[in-house]
Amino acid sequence: MKYRRFGRTEMHLSVFTLGGMRFLDSKETAIRTAFEAVRLGINHIETARGYGDSEKFLGEAFRAGLPRDKLFITTKITPTADRDTMRRQIDESLKRMRISRIDNFDVHGINLPEHLALCTRKNGCMKAVQEAMDEGIIGHVGFSTHGRLPLLLETINTDLFESINLHYYYFNQNNAPAVELAHQKDMGVFIISPTDKGGQLFNPTPKLEQLCAPYSPMAINHRFLLSDPRIHTLSLGASNPKEFAPHIAVADNDAPLTELEKAIFARLDNQYRTVPSLCEQCMQCLPCPENINIPEVLRLRNLALGFDMQEFAQYRYGMFGNAGHWYPGTTANACTDCGDCLPRCPVELKIPTLLEESHKLMFQGNRKRLWS
Ligand code: SF4
Ligand code: SF4
Repeated sequence: MKYRRFGRTEMHLSVFTLGGMRFLDSKETAIRTAFEAVRLGINHIETARGYGDSEKFLGEAFRAGLPRDKLFITTKITPTADRDTMRRQIDESLKRMRISRIDNFDVHGINLPEHLALCTRKNGCMKAVQEAMDEGIIGHVGFSTHGRLPLLLETINTDLFESINLHYYYFNQNNAPAVELAHQKDMGVFIISPTDKGGQLFNPTPKLEQLCAPYSPMAINHRFLLSDPRIHTLSLGASNPKEFAPHIAVADNDAPLTELEKAIFARLDNQYRTVPSLCEQCMQCLPCPENINIPEVLRLRNLALGFDMQEFAQYRYGMFGNAGHWYPGTTANACTDCGDCLPRCPVELKIPTLLEESHKLMFQGNRKRLWS
């Protein structure tokens, strides 16, 4: 296992983090999974108050002997309107996890400007976080986000946070400027769910396998991330001890990309460019009066047509309208053909036609977020 300095927090974290969001099966499985993570050299476990019993199961693992001194713990709490609510929730999380200190506390889900406003208001939730830091109950503070890039940049620029937990993968590089800005500010950079949200790469399409050969798509995505020294740790949401193996196979490989790997990425890039009416992800078509997340719909279309990633596209598309600010936007059939977006698209895409096509391609029914 390799370890990286997590920006100015000066914590040295393993390049894989055990994400506790899938501690679902049972307390016993969660405990075994946490022990296996430590055995493999993982020294960072991340959970959240909002992940069902996850914090509680982690506490049970500590009670069963999980070595606290070998681990950095991150938990996340959504921003609150006032200091007292946040303080109560921090104390509850500590109790559930049976620990006396949260090494790294993340404000969970700065997804909208309103969430950032809760963090910057006087005597708001950050007052409780600061007090807990002064008392030594919290070591460092960061934030997680599913928001749009301008909000990420604004949040980073507040300088309130020492780390960021964000979506960034080979198959979704829209947040690249946030990774760079975080790097410039010497923040820790933690990647959310690179395998699942990064393209359900545990279940790759034959076309993707062929393009990534001789590596697996999961491994090549890990290499994309770990060859980048600005990125420090990737979450690995194992639900049982057996799920570590394919990831750990590349855990020690954080070297620069080889010529072969560069050739694979060139092959993937070339294939992507063959998508007819490719959406360039410039975001200029927004806002849509019907709240359609046009770039994200068309990103899923790009992946479905470019890499046969239709199942992944259907999985994500099914979340529109069901996951609130965690995955904003309505389904593409809400388009009224008003034409507002058309003059804003620099590559003159026929957006309403593409949205209609995308809906037919991807709509299969509604899905819920794992933790709504
Ligand atoms: S044409 Fe459709 S997608 Fe474009 S702005 Fe109007 S409703 Fe939104
Ligand atoms: S403006 Fe055009 S290219 Fe840019 S994100 Fe919107 S649809 Fe895609």
